[in-house]
Amino acid sequence: MFKIDFDNPLTLSVIMPKRDSINHYFEHILGISMPFYVDKISYEKEKENENEKDETHVYVEYHKALRFTSPCCKEKESQRKRVHARTWRALNMGNNQTYIHMNLPSVKCNKCGKTQVIDVPWARKSCNFTYEFEQKIVAYAEYMPNSAIAKTLEESDKVISDIMQYNTSKQD
Ligand SMILES: [Zn+2]
Repeated sequence: MFKIDFDNPLTLSVIMPKRDSINHYFEHILGISMPFYVDKISYEKEKENENEKDETHVYVEYHKALRFTSPCCKEKESQRKRVHARTWRALNMGNNQTYIHMNLPSVKCNKCGKTQVIDVPWARKSCNFTYEFEQKIVAYAEYMPNSAIAKTLEESDKVISDIMQYNTSKQD
């Protein structure tokens, strides 16, 4: 019987669903790579206080036939368990605040039995912001106080200080 080799990028590119070029563009700029893909993009107007804000929402999917490698032991073909609805904030696109949404599956490791959510290429584990968003904060921190960064990026001071704390402590 023909067996799909999920580790072969060529096979993956063949079995991935067909998407429009706009979806490919968002995958490219947001660092969403196989086996993940952009399924849907929507634009919304959010009313905040008296102001209207434009938002871009990017919905990510993965090929449902895929088996994931466990984050703990890198064990291939780990069993997929329940999914967790997650949202990550990405850098603004123009004036639009941009969010990535995905039902992130957890996998049960065949080796150690631990169940964990899988890793994604655009953000670190349990962080609700993309790597690029974090890097922007670190770059701003060279010449701006946290409160000014928070205002510029429309986030809370706590978010900025948490991200700064993580990024400065890992460099020591
Ligand atoms: Zn394991």
